[in-house]
Amino acid sequence: MQEAKYWRALNVVHYKCHACGYLNEFQIEKNKLVFGYSYAAGTAHFAGGDGVAFPGITAYVKGEGLVVRLGREMWNVMPIKHNTA
Ligand SMILES: [Zn+2]
Repeated sequence: MQEAKYWRALNVVHYKCHACGYLNEFQIEKNKLVFGYSYAAGTAHFAGGDGVAFPGITAYVKGEGLVVRLGREMWNVMPIKHNTA
């Protein structure tokens, strides 16, 4: 998850695929990933699709970043740095 970044305002994780460069955007819920996309409509929004079951995954906000847990594994997802921030 080193390439992943967390967008606090939208509660969205951005993850760029190493293989093809595709930018995945998803929210983490308990035992579920919700893939979607962000867009600007006055302010930023996130449009999520159906959730994909991901048994055991949980996440919680820590500062501006996100901590993701999966069983005994844990990752810190660093916050996105916005130019306008
Ligand atoms: Zn890919």
